[in-house]
Amino acid sequence: MSHNERLRQLSSNLEQVRARISAAAESCDRLASEVSLIVVTKNWPASDVHLLSALGVHDVGENRDQEAASKHADCVDLALRWHFVGGLQRNKCRSVARYADVVHSVDRLELVPALARAAENAERHLDLCLQVSLDGAAGREGAAPNELPRLAEAVLDEPALDLIGLMAVAPLQTDPQAAFARLGEIWADFQIRYPSVRMLSAGMSEDLEAAIRNGATHVRVGTAVLGHRPDLR
Ligand SMILES: *Cc1c(COP(=O)(O)O)cnc(C)c1O
Repeated sequence: MSHNERLRQLSSNLEQVRARISAAAESCDRLASEVSLIVVTKNWPASDVHLLSALGVHDVGENRDQEAASKHADCVDLALRWHFVGGLQRNKCRSVARYADVVHSVDRLELVPALARAAENAERHLDLCLQVSLDGAAGREGAAPNELPRLAEAVLDEPALDLIGLMAVAPLQTDPQAAFARLGEIWADFQIRYPSVRMLSAGMSEDLEAAIRNGATHVRVGTAVLGHRPDLR
């Protein structure tokens, strides 16, 4: 596909996703401007990130450190906010802190000091979301809801880290509306305890409407903007 064809395709997909966001917000008496779009660019080349930036995208998401670090290096001239949304290993924190502006996937205590030291070394400030599991207990990824206060307090103790919100993924094979309704309750409790938080990261290509109806402030959309992901190998 030529550069111009890809630009037209991304432009049209973005328009459709933005229309979905507006319609979902309107359907529950929210403003479309309350919901930010993060385009998840994993498995897609840096050239697509350049096109997205030209089309007015301000936020991009990645889920693997190695790919994200090299893509970020190819896009340093762009005014973008980089979101790390994937499962995080402690030994990747040092690298992630160099390019990420927001880390969505803080789901266990050991990551907090690792990210704090990494941010200090990089002389940067990191915004963090705690990832909560909606499986009922601690999931494959995500902390159990009752672990959130302990994690939150650890983040608040670190001057290099800012606690800005929560992130969740709807469990597979469940009704996203039910999962995100549960998330909405967890979010309401969390906001009472930590009044400065402002970001609820939830909703992807298939379920962004249900997430917005339940309070999402940031949706993370890959496929609906970029198409079905090519295999990286
Ligand atoms: C890949 C990914 C997304 C985007 O998923 P799509 O279904 O392609 O929109 C969102 N969040 C996370 C954590 C992801 O890994």
